[in-house]
Amino acid sequence: TMQEKKKEEFIFKSRLPDIYIPNHLPLHSYIFQDLDNFATHPCLINAPTGEVFTYSDVHLKARRVASGLNKLGIRQGDVIMILLPNCPQFVFSFLGASFRGAIATAANPFFTPAEIAKQAKASNARLLVTQSSYYEKVKELDGHLSLVFVDTPPEKHVHFSELEEADEGEIPEVKISPEDVVALPYSSGTTGLPKGVMLSHKGLVTSVGQQVDGDNPNLYYHSADVIMCVLPMFHIYSLNSVLLCGLRAKASIILMPKFDITAFLGLVDKHRVTICPVVPPIILAIAKCPDLGKYDLSSIRVLKSGGAPLGKDLEHTVRLKFPNAKLGQGYGMTEAGPVLTMCLTFAKEAIDGKPGACGTVVRNAEMKIVDPETEDSLPRNQPGEICIRGHQIMKGYLNDPESTARTIDKEGWLHTGDIGYIDDDDELFIVDRLKELIKYKGFQVAPAELEALLLSHPKISDAAVVPMKDEAAGEVPVAFVVSANGHTDTTEDEIKQFVSKQVVFYKRINRVFFVDAIPKSPSGKILRKDLRARLALPLTN
Ligand code: AMP
Repeated sequence: TMQEKKKEEFIFKSRLPDIYIPNHLPLHSYIFQDLDNFATHPCLINAPTGEVFTYSDVHLKARRVASGLNKLGIRQGDVIMILLPNCPQFVFSFLGASFRGAIATAANPFFTPAEIAKQAKASNARLLVTQSSYYEKVKELDGHLSLVFVDTPPEKHVHFSELEEADEGEIPEVKISPEDVVALPYSSGTTGLPKGVMLSHKGLVTSVGQQVDGDNPNLYYHSADVIMCVLPMFHIYSLNSVLLCGLRAKASIILMPKFDITAFLGLVDKHRVTICPVVPPIILAIAKCPDLGKYDLSSIRVLKSGGAPLGKDLEHTVRLKFPNAKLGQGYGMTEAGPVLTMCLTFAKEAIDGKPGACGTVVRNAEMKIVDPETEDSLPRNQPGEICIRGHQIMKGYLNDPESTARTIDKEGWLHTGDIGYIDDDDELFIVDRLKELIKYKGFQVAPAELEALLLSHPKISDAAVVPMKDEAAGEVPVAFVVSANGHTDTTEDEIKQFVSKQVVFYKRINRVFFVDAIPKSPSGKILRKDLRARLALPLTN
């Protein structure tokens, strides 16, 4: 006769009220909504050359590229791939694809040919925008897709100027639905191999709006800001929270092709940079730099760290060095669009968050913390899996409804695979990671990808890859391997080299431990927690 009581749901929202976000607009229309008022305002500054593009320059270039893409046969819904360091042509290509109603997938230029080819094929890319120094790596794709080069094209390939100089009057009429995909970053999510993450116009407009629209407390970007874009735009953190948010706010954006502490500090000084969105290793480089005093860094008002956990000691050290800047973390995940929380977004004054906090949930979204076993939502101060719901999250994984269903439940909650809790002040603290993902300086390393490679080695019969803590990188991948029958002579070096030849530098295996068996659950799942626990003990080979 006991009546089942409906379980209490604990759902957390921003303390700021929801705002109107015009997410019915295509991304480019939303970004350039107030173009007339900012036509001559500096938009992009290309650091290596000093070249400046105004908002109307960027708008015009993007429309020309859209027309040029059309001429090269790119149709609505087609995918173009971008393989470039941060540079103006990256921005023109991405926005050009949006104007064309096409989809952009960007990859890390440091990828090996095999890694590039994998993403090109999986995304069914029709065209690749790249530079001649990567020609050797992308040559084998010739014939499968059109190659466009931003500098002197090798052989008979297309020069980017053909796109940039197309007649913008010839962009075909496209009717873009808010649900259409515009960006396709790759991420392994909570498990398995990298997958195409479908971010729609509506999703990205919502996410940008959550970060910079509305009656802004002073942490948000505005048009007087100068934003440092040093994080690679192939990752959604930079594409969304640096580039797109900067464009929407009509700020000026400095494009830096690669991080170098001296160049970085010099640019901050020279351009009076106000906002520095970075990752923990850059915070570390700043903290350790002996020459900080040589630069005038007083223009910085926000130092934002995201992509990986920021150590409390490091946070404290840097806070002391920048007494006038607000140092805070953001928390993102590609699949979440990507931003879930930002440092004290509800505060009228830009005050510092608590050490270790990742900020508070963005507006127009709901967050809950669930018990990973029972799926029950948990009250404040209890750690569980972080889940998020809102229009900003991905539509799903490309051609992979199963992985999509495992990540977004029937009620629309995206399960992050991160463990955290929300405290009495609505601040989120991340305490652990439930998922397999390894983060090397914020870069994704998918254990499944390395395990598949290891298993292809004739002398290995089983393998598991897990993260090991590392001072400089945060985490590095290490492997536990079982030697195949009869192979007792396999060496750590041999295995490391076998892998490193096939992957980008941050996926290289740092240590190899030979074991008799990989611990597995009865259903055959690798018991990663056990292996991670073994790393805490003194380990030898
Ligand atoms: P990505 O999809 O490459 O952005 O990786 C997302 C993952 O990075 C998250 O699910 C977290 O595990 C981790 N991450 C991102 N930001 C933070 C942060 N501020 N603190 C701790 N982990 C983070």
